[in-house]
Amino acid sequence: MPFVKNLGIRARLVVLTAASVAPLMLLLAAGIAYSYGDALDRAKLDVRKTAEIAAARLSDTFQDARGRLDIIRNLVEVRRSSGPSCDAFMTSLQKANPQFVSLGLADRERGTICRGQLGGSYRLEDRSRIAEVLAMGPDGFAAGTYEEGIAAGMTTVLVVMPMAPVGGRATGVIFAAISLDHLMQSVRELSSGHDRSVVLLEASTGRVLVRRPNEVLFGTAMPDHPILPFLRTHRDGGVAELDDDDGTPRIFGAAPLPDTGSSGLTLLVGASRAATIAAVNLRSLIAVFLSLLVLGLVIAAISWLGTEMLVRPIRRLVQMASRIGAGEFEARTQIEGWQAPEFRELASTLDITAVRLEEGRRAEAAVAASESRYRLLAENTADMITCVSADGRRTFVSGASVELLGLRPEELLGEKAMDLSHPDDAEQIRSMAARLRAGGVRDALRYRVRHRDGRYVWIEATGRRIEGSDELVFAIRDASHRKAMEDHLEAANRRLATLAATDDLTGLPNRRTFNDRLANEIARCVRSGAPISLVLVDVDRFKAFNDGYGHQAGDVCLQNVATALGAEVGRAGDLVARYGGEEFVAVLPAATIDGARARAEAMRQRVRNLGIDHAGSEHGRVTISIGVASLSDAGIEDATSVLLRQADQALYAAKAGGRDAVVVFADAAPDLGIRQIA
Ligand code: GH3
Ligand code: MG
Ligand code: MG
Repeated sequence: MPFVKNLGIRARLVVLTAASVAPLMLLLAAGIAYSYGDALDRAKLDVRKTAEIAAARLSDTFQDARGRLDIIRNLVEVRRSSGPSCDAFMTSLQKANPQFVSLGLADRERGTICRGQLGGSYRLEDRSRIAEVLAMGPDGFAAGTYEEGIAAGMTTVLVVMPMAPVGGRATGVIFAAISLDHLMQSVRELSSGHDRSVVLLEASTGRVLVRRPNEVLFGTAMPDHPILPFLRTHRDGGVAELDDDDGTPRIFGAAPLPDTGSSGLTLLVGASRAATIAAVNLRSLIAVFLSLLVLGLVIAAISWLGTEMLVRPIRRLVQMASRIGAGEFEARTQIEGWQAPEFRELASTLDITAVRLEEGRRAEAAVAASESRYRLLAENTADMITCVSADGRRTFVSGASVELLGLRPEELLGEKAMDLSHPDDAEQIRSMAARLRAGGVRDALRYRVRHRDGRYVWIEATGRRIEGSDELVFAIRDASHRKAMEDHLEAANRRLATLAATDDLTGLPNRRTFNDRLANEIARCVRSGAPISLVLVDVDRFKAFNDGYGHQAGDVCLQNVATALGAEVGRAGDLVARYGGEEFVAVLPAATIDGARARAEAMRQRVRNLGIDHAGSEHGRVTISIGVASLSDAGIEDATSVLLRQADQALYAAKAGGRDAVVVFADAAPDLGIRQIA
């Protein structure tokens, strides 16, 4: 139903109204149809009854005539009469019975044999008719237009009876012509004042005796009258609805007149169909008119109410919506207080929407203003400002990118920010981004980014998440110079630290390093319950070496000794350091006293085997003396000084014993006259 979609609210309301009124209209139509049927039925009953009553009334005339003829035919004068005296007698009878316009006797052979002289000069000469009546027997009676009798200008009908039998059977008939004037009067009464037609006719021949209102000459034959076929099949009368011979549709009631013999005189009462239904027509017309008027008024009212109560508010709401759509947020909906609450609710919702949108617009304008301010700032700062979306792509790059990376902002926009960074820094960058996204802050991160010319540039990036968004904003600056400087500083510091910890001449760790290490190693061994040994080395007669070979040669000698000592100490944690002057010290963590002794012995051998001449020594070569002390009892307080003192005492013993020797404190303690501590 494509047309339905074009139906507006008002048209729909009208259709709805019409649909709801339709059953009432159907009821009205049924009532009208019933009224028509009822009016026709009543008219049928009426014409039938009228015809029957009128026929009964008319038949009285014939009954009366029959009675009189019966009396007359039995009069002696009549039974015998013939000739002039008969005529005179008939005339006298006529005078006594003025309704008989004509009165006479007739027989089969001679026709009329005598007649009254009053009225017309009617003679019954139709022999076959006479025979017909005679054949009816002694009580026969016939009425009709057997002969047309216009006597004295009166319309008449002929009634005939057989004569009283003479010698067993009758040979003649008695006839009389009755005036139809009072019949006509009755008929006039029936038809007057009504739109009715009345016809008295012979059903057998179609001859009309009386007819109103379209009067015809008495006896006019109307063999084609449409009622005749009906009458032939309905000899007892009835009701027929058909067109009259003038074409008027009529309802005919037909009733036969009794006692009128074979002519079949029948009275027809016809009511015009149009007149019958005229009253119904008027009533129906008024009913239809009133109904249509009411329907029209109802539809007009519904249409008006629909416009006022539905269409208007909806139009206003639509108008408001389109104004909001067009950005007119200051517009407000005008819905009267008496309109449906749904409309008022929708209106206030729209108003609220407009207010919110207006606020939104102001906020947007404020944001746009501040954004342009920040953009200006970003574009004019020496740092490269860049925004990175949740999927890692740049959404904004400031102009400083040209200076920093040799790339214009539009070359960087939309690209993955990680694409340019050094693979080795990727992990750091990722973790920084994750931290920032989680809302955290991070110190400036330094990493490498590929410049347009292919080299990597050190940059330093600080970033944070943009409030209310998944985007990150970074400020990136060149860190090449700073990085270089820091590298330089770091190298210098490292060198300084090495210098501070190392002995210049021999390259061995110095005494300070030794002190630090010794305290640590002792603590560790005490914790783990492991032994620790200390080896103290002193070059023999070195003053004399200096004196003999010069201070410089002394230095070289010390370097060689240091190298030799270092070669004998290889385990993790072992340490050889220059203790001072021509004295060296070795820490051997986890070394038992035997192990330490063996190490010390190996050192002594190795230095001796250097074979450096030393004329000022009793051994003729450069040799060393070694004191060894070992600590195995965990928990000894002040272990550092104890170890050093014991090792020193053992060294002293080695010197005293002739030099080029190793003395272990534990072995030598009793000889040294010292109470052993451990
Ligand atoms: P002893 O066998 O008893 O140890 O005799 P010594 O001569 O080695 O004993 P002393 O401690 O009296 O002498 C140490 C000498 O070592 C004194 C000093 O001239 C010399 N000496 C100390 N440090 C250096 C140095 O760095 N270079 C040189 N060439 N000689 C040094
Ligand atoms: Mg010394
Ligand atoms: Mg010495």
